[in-house]
Amino acid sequence: MLNIVIFGPPGAGKGTQSEKLIEKYNLKHISTGDLFRWHTKNDTELGLRVKEIMDSGELVSDDITIAMLKEEVEKNPEVSGFLFDGFPRTVDQAKALDTLMHSMDTQIQHVVELEVSEEEVKKRIAKRKELEGRADDADDKLVKRIDEYFNKTVHVLPYYKEQSRLSTVNGVGGIEEISKSITDILDK
Ligand code: AMP
Repeated sequence: MLNIVIFGPPGAGKGTQSEKLIEKYNLKHISTGDLFRWHTKNDTELGLRVKEIMDSGELVSDDITIAMLKEEVEKNPEVSGFLFDGFPRTVDQAKALDTLMHSMDTQIQHVVELEVSEEEVKKRIAKRKELEGRADDADDKLVKRIDEYFNKTVHVLPYYKEQSRLSTVNGVGGIEEISKSITDILDK
């Protein structure tokens, strides 16, 4: 199995690059943000529990997030690999993901960080907001989500770096150019 984490701030291009990777390597894409949005949109019990916290731009608790992720992984026993997007965001989530992968006799081989500055990300999200009108990208929430990333989520990176699983890619540039930088790492 090839299991990858794609890492980066909101608006770094994780979605775009993920689409390319799932096609090229035939991976199952699991985005915890998309899963939470599906639950809130469909008013599931879980959706109702996380709606407020998501609206605030803060992180959902590790317990809830890890349980949802685990369920989604276990629903897909036959896949040739996973691409995790938006997960892990805490060291505890990273450890839980390792435990889950080990229980399946596999592991996370690569964590690919798309490096984009805070300023660039703010510009991009403002543009995406204009185009898509995503509800969670309202300005105040946006600032909060970006803050969460640069103040908290980035602390997951040393965990992977110490284990030589982290690769950092410049996330500013053409889509194809960035995609090639990523596949060069994965194909090495
Ligand atoms: P995203 O689209 O990945 O930015 O996620 C949207 C929102 O879902 C986040 O602002 C969090 O409230 C929640 N969320 C998504 N993934 C996680 C995670 N791994 N841990 C905690 N909360 C998450």
